[in-house]
Amino acid sequence: MEIPRRVLGKTGLKVSMLGFGASPLGDEFGVTDEGEGTRAVHYAIERGINYFDVAPLYGETLAETRLGRALVGYRHKVILATKCGEYTNDLKTGFDFSAQRVFRSVEESLRRLRTDHIDVYQAHDIHAEYRSQIISETLPAMLRLKEAGKVRFVGITGDSLSFLREVAEAVDVDTVLSFCHYDLLDTSLDQVLTPYLSRRGIGQINASPLHMRVLTNTGAPDWYKLPLATMEAAQKAARYCRQHGVDISDLALQFALQHPYAATTLVGMSRVAHVERNTSAVGVTPDPQLLSEILAILRPSTGC
Ligand code: NAD
Repeated sequence: MEIPRRVLGKTGLKVSMLGFGASPLGDEFGVTDEGEGTRAVHYAIERGINYFDVAPLYGETLAETRLGRALVGYRHKVILATKCGEYTNDLKTGFDFSAQRVFRSVEESLRRLRTDHIDVYQAHDIHAEYRSQIISETLPAMLRLKEAGKVRFVGITGDSLSFLREVAEAVDVDTVLSFCHYDLLDTSLDQVLTPYLSRRGIGQINASPLHMRVLTNTGAPDWYKLPLATMEAAQKAARYCRQHGVDISDLALQFALQHPYAATTLVGMSRVAHVERNTSAVGVTPDPQLLSEILAILRPSTGC
């Protein structure tokens, strides 16, 4: 089916409700063949996906470089989002939210992405340790880039829903991206953030509906840690789905795509088969009986 588009809050951008998360192009979930990644990008566009999210962090610039190459000749068909502020996975040294780095970072991203503007530019993985710098230095620098036309809209991304809300209250951001907070394991997004964003008309982006691959038959990558009880419950849920002829990733995606306000749900993709599978989940209502059985398996392990 044609992938429906939704308006991304006050940006007015019409984004496909399923978005292409490009972190796997940076080998974040195992080695990706670049040719296959490029075919996945092109197939996603053919299937109607128009929102692409990437960051310098993913593969330490590899994902941006590969996405930039794949988008040659296709840039005009997509809404392109990238980020600044986080550059390596080292929690001590990986962040730089200084204005100077923002100005340099945007030029580097533009070069790698082979474009003259970024549609949505986001401060990456903000957290409270950097509160005053993000509010008084990082976001003002990004807003200057908006005035200069290098970026069209400015947003924030992160894990802490309460901190995302606090920053959105302090600075006039256009979009907020959170991850792993609206899926089969966790719906805290709607308790903490969604009502505020929808009231203010701020564009909402929901990432990682497969909970970093926990909600798939493959399971999480080694670097992603959850309590053992949750991992075991996820494996049990995947098995239960298989016994009923269902791939848990389909159910997980169908569930997340039902979110009433998030304009786009970002799934990490670098393979044509995943694009095929994930686009086929759009517009399908999850089987209510199976869904309630799976939630009964998963939710006690998370306390949600
Ligand atoms: P995810 O839950 O979307 O998926 C995890 C991995 O599952 C994917 O990377 C892919 O390798 C695999 N996969 C995809 N479809 C599959 C399928 N049908 N069956 C089996 N496996 C499948 O998690 P994610 O990739 O981390 O998140 C999606 C995107 O959201 C990222 O690529 C990134 O662009 C964005 N994101 C942003 C932030 C941030 O800004 N702080 C954080 C997390 C994610």
